[in-house]
Amino acid sequence: MNSAAPENLLGLSRGSLERRFQAMGERPFRARQLMKWIYGRDVLAPAAMTDLSLELRSRLAAEADFSLPVLRSRERAADGVVKWLLDAGRGQAVETVFIPEAGRGTLCVSSQVGCAMDCSFCATGHQGFNRNLSAAEIIGQVLLARRELARDRGAAVTNVVFMGMGEPLANFRAVVEAAAVLTDSLGFNLSRRRVTVSTSGLVPQIRRLAAESRVALAVSLHAADDELRNRLVPINRRHPIAELLAACWDYVDKTNIRDVTFEYVMLAGVNDSLAQARALARRLRHRPAKVNLIPFNPFPGSGYRRSSQPVIDDFRQVLLDAGIMTITRKTRGDDIAAACGQLAGRVQNLVRSPLGAKPLETGS
Ligand code: SAH
Ligand code: SF4
Repeated sequence: MNSAAPENLLGLSRGSLERRFQAMGERPFRARQLMKWIYGRDVLAPAAMTDLSLELRSRLAAEADFSLPVLRSRERAADGVVKWLLDAGRGQAVETVFIPEAGRGTLCVSSQVGCAMDCSFCATGHQGFNRNLSAAEIIGQVLLARRELARDRGAAVTNVVFMGMGEPLANFRAVVEAAAVLTDSLGFNLSRRRVTVSTSGLVPQIRRLAAESRVALAVSLHAADDELRNRLVPINRRHPIAELLAACWDYVDKTNIRDVTFEYVMLAGVNDSLAQARALARRLRHRPAKVNLIPFNPFPGSGYRRSSQPVIDDFRQVLLDAGIMTITRKTRGDDIAAACGQLAGRVQNLVRSPLGAKPLETGS
């Protein structure tokens, strides 16, 4: 922490913080004290951390950084959904969304500025990719939302989903670090079932995640055959459905979670036929799988339409008849473009190359 730019310590897992303190010549238990201030008491100013020595407080003030993302704007939808636009530096911005429901409050966080995965039905994908967020920028979203919500109405964040902008598993290290803070008893103390990483299907990283974190997994499937999925979710060309599903079943075995949630965006005339529902049922029946059908959320220039409600209902019935737990996700916050796949933030695209050359895995 002696470098010119002080390192932001928000979002570092307990183990990483212990190593930082050791590197400063301090005892590792300082990590626990610091986490209690940050996450337990929402105190981010070292000067106020009264159980640390005066010397350590001044060193932290000089050598470390605890700043939250800068808020550019906040919008509240008629249904109580809140969307924050956060500065990501250099004219970029990302979005965070809070979705209140009976008995719980879900925070949808971004993991990257834009996304390189290029899914054809996604507003973030259409913008291209700029950079990964740091663990501090991810956890900063949760701290900021918690603060704002406490000030406004007292609604609490009970669940965190990595379903905002970006492909979380392409920013593996920061996401695993942030997930550790979310589930740590001295962090946000959320059960690992209440922290969900959603991926478009980066198979090697799903396998690594099983070894390094045991959070809930959601997979954006969107098609039951490779030909269609190649078009909707281009990463499928590298990791086809059979390989992806095998990694999902291994993830369940290794992490002891109950099931994987498969997300399926309902696109009129594209992936919503009864034959496609039956093909999906064949892939998932007798497996630890549940399905979330997501009515397509339109955005300018998408070229897709949302399936009608009767079509969605019939599709769902096929899955239910096969014994697969299936829900249709309610569209929330549409009056402020805060629904799944509508997050656009402000992204300057740095990705010009075809899929094969994109920075699919950055960070280590
Ligand atoms: N990048 C991750 C998480 C982000 S998005 C992923 O793709 O899984 C969360 C979900 O919203 C994903 O299942 C994504 O495919 C879906 N989605 C994207 N664009 C959408 C849109 N326009 N309408 C509805 N869902 C969309
Ligand atoms: Fe990226 Fe997910 Fe959008 Fe695909 S759906 S472009 S992976 S954010």
